[in-house]
Amino acid sequence: MYYKAAEEMGIKEKLGILTDAAKYDVACTSSGVDRRGDGKGMGNTELGGICHSFSSDGRCISLLKILFTNECIYDCKYCINRKSNDVPRASFTPDEVCELTMGFYKRNYIEGLFLSSGILYNPDFTMELICQTIYKLRREHGFQGYIHVKAIPGADPMLIQKAGFFADRMSVNLELPTADGLRQLAPNKHRKNILAPMRQIQNGIEANKNELVLYKKAPYFVPAGQSTQMIIGATPENDYQLMMVAENLYQKFGLKRVFYSAFVNVNEDKELPALPGGPPLLREHRLYQADWLLRYYGFQAQELLSEERPNFNVLLDPKADWALRHLEVFPVEVNRAEYQLLLRIPGIGVKSAQRIVRARKNGALRFEDLKKIGVVLKRALYFITCGGRMMYRTKIEEDYITRNLLSVKEKLPFDKDGMTYRQMSLFDDMSFRMPPEREDSVKAAFGQL
Ligand code: SF4
Repeated sequence: MYYKAAEEMGIKEKLGILTDAAKYDVACTSSGVDRRGDGKGMGNTELGGICHSFSSDGRCISLLKILFTNECIYDCKYCINRKSNDVPRASFTPDEVCELTMGFYKRNYIEGLFLSSGILYNPDFTMELICQTIYKLRREHGFQGYIHVKAIPGADPMLIQKAGFFADRMSVNLELPTADGLRQLAPNKHRKNILAPMRQIQNGIEANKNELVLYKKAPYFVPAGQSTQMIIGATPENDYQLMMVAENLYQKFGLKRVFYSAFVNVNEDKELPALPGGPPLLREHRLYQADWLLRYYGFQAQELLSEERPNFNVLLDPKADWALRHLEVFPVEVNRAEYQLLLRIPGIGVKSAQRIVRARKNGALRFEDLKKIGVVLKRALYFITCGGRMMYRTKIEEDYITRNLLSVKEKLPFDKDGMTYRQMSLFDDMSFRMPPEREDSVKAAFGQL
């Protein structure tokens, strides 16, 4: 098939190819940075500013999400951009990415840039181009909005370091949770090459925090932290393995976020699994819920799953599932229970647990008060007492509670036909209104786990 050479392409044509090519990377949300602009350049990432607005449906800020290039020397079996695929190829120049970012930013279409890339010639060459781009954006164009870039595994640590001083967030995608999985589907990638830049970024962030204590004007290094992404369902790892890897990344590498991406089969390859039911979205959803339990609810992976019970119950969210397997803990008296125990009650989320702790200082709470506080009583009622009484006469019995919980319709971030969210297209008729990112939809749907 004939495709235009890169030099014959206009920037708009490249943009069409390289935004589409970026759509399988979900590790691009932008939580957790409060780097201020200096008042001279354009944009800032201050908390409460547009970069960190989440709309009521959980929408993330809008980012221009592109690949620098979809040319790639590697041949990852799951990837549309692998070298053996016959697809149109395009590469930006650093100036083109700057032009697009500034143009869209000025027109208020975006609040930041998410820049990933295929591997052009070699990791160093690619990382150098990424560095040049963000250097130009920051230094020549005065862009102070949000920038998230990929650290390319195998690139010179000096280049990773340089990028860290211009980016807000960096991510290195783990892609597959185990070294075996990588060997099978991404034979050019090596786990140690992925973990090395992660460790480097972690150490850089720690050093930068100390430096900022001593010298307030020290330049920021990756102030929004780092994240990663794992593909779910392309290799045979179970949920327990995935959760153990995620927990390890949070605890040992200080990651801000782990993203889970349901495997979408875009290539004909005998090494890839057939997924007759489509991408495993419900599994992805359960993993995101469990991830929240690790990060905000004080759970450990081994409490949720084990080698004997390695996969999440698809019918129930992981917290309800845990509660049903620990009925000896319940019912919990909400007027006395410690905060950490409140968090383990289905129907009580972080906000409502905090409100309970505050409100009960002023007097004993009643069920009506819990409702006003935001407790989802139709879920919590099997697990709590208020003033020593349950809300209704009810059995504390696993089958009975399970049946009742299942009768409460669960809000899922996708519809019965699959995804309701879709990749932002810069050329469609949506007036640039972005649909929620998957993980943010989960956040919106499950404020109360
Ligand atoms: S490195 Fe692998 S996943 Fe990344 S663009 Fe190349 S083929 Fe795709």
